[in-house]
Amino acid sequence: MEKLICTSCIKNAGLRFLAEKLRDPSDKRFFETCGHTGGFLNEDNVDQLIQEFFVNGSIPPSSGGTASVYNIKATGINELTFESELDHDIGLLSQYKPLPLCHYGPPLYKIGATTKYQELVIDEVSGCRRKEIWEEVIRVCKRVTLEPDSIIYRARKGNSLPPALEKEFDSNPNPIEGRFNKSGEKVFYGAFDIETCLHEIRVALTDWIALATFIVKKELLLLDITDITESPPTPFENIGIFIRKILYSGESEYPLCQEFASEIKNRGYDGLISSSFFKQVHKNDLKNIILFGQPAKDGKISMTSTNKINVNFISYEYSFGPMGDNKRLDVKALELLTKQYKDKLKLVESGRLELDEFERFMDYYMHRFMNIMENS
Ligand SMILES: [Zn+2]
Repeated sequence: MEKLICTSCIKNAGLRFLAEKLRDPSDKRFFETCGHTGGFLNEDNVDQLIQEFFVNGSIPPSSGGTASVYNIKATGINELTFESELDHDIGLLSQYKPLPLCHYGPPLYKIGATTKYQELVIDEVSGCRRKEIWEEVIRVCKRVTLEPDSIIYRARKGNSLPPALEKEFDSNPNPIEGRFNKSGEKVFYGAFDIETCLHEIRVALTDWIALATFIVKKELLLLDITDITESPPTPFENIGIFIRKILYSGESEYPLCQEFASEIKNRGYDGLISSSFFKQVHKNDLKNIILFGQPAKDGKISMTSTNKINVNFISYEYSFGPMGDNKRLDVKALELLTKQYKDKLKLVESGRLELDEFERFMDYYMHRFMNIMENS
């Protein structure tokens, strides 16, 4: 018998959408049991679908790691209950082969918990050791110079267009906290291309968007934290993973990014090159350029042109994952245990059970009770 699964029977919309993309579009079958004539999945398709949907699809946003919430065990049975149409679909997909889904306890480096992160954030080492760590991090990043005449862009958005003056596009004179600056610290956030600027300022269709084009006036010394040369003995010592973790985490890692920037500044750099947060979801290698101080006022860069930007087209690409699962209390087991308890209690009350025997039962009762609760 061919082990084929009818895609029309999949109830979860995202899962069915992915299944339809995976299957051979030219091949259709009639399924007697459900009456559908349509696409189908073979065993390989099912394996791929599970990986894409439950594993890749459950990676949390803004964690700076690549660890999924769910994973597939080598053997065993499914441990997840979603209390939604997904439970039906798991049953459907596992009719020929078990689907041992489980909660994933990933290696810690996959969630960005490298030794550097451990020391800086968890142990909060200070003094010399802290300096030493930053020194190690900075040493593996590439030192680059930006030549005069290079082009840099900076965009601004608002309820109206700002005047086309250089000071309007230099670092914000009253800065609020950003990824690489504490509140009050002046930093210029630019990019090497216009699209990166638009991503970074998170434009809305109601915004007036202004773009300034700058030209570099004198050689600028930059630390490129996207270009790392290292050979760590284990992934836990990997500085690339550490940097990705602090860059791609949300605002929770701002203090560490700010400290990193200040260490770079103290070593005499004019700024740094970093990956755009949006590089994670972009086909191009989007990069930001961050310059300390007020580079236009300081004569390092000069504005050559300003424009109003019109957004013509926005497109999203996406994939699907599951919603959270629901751990379920084993009500039947609890009811059975409660009945056993009541029966024993009646026996004690009527003098038909010795107290020490009841005590032994209570040991068993507590143990079993904890067991049921832990597995719920
Ligand atoms: Zn069907």
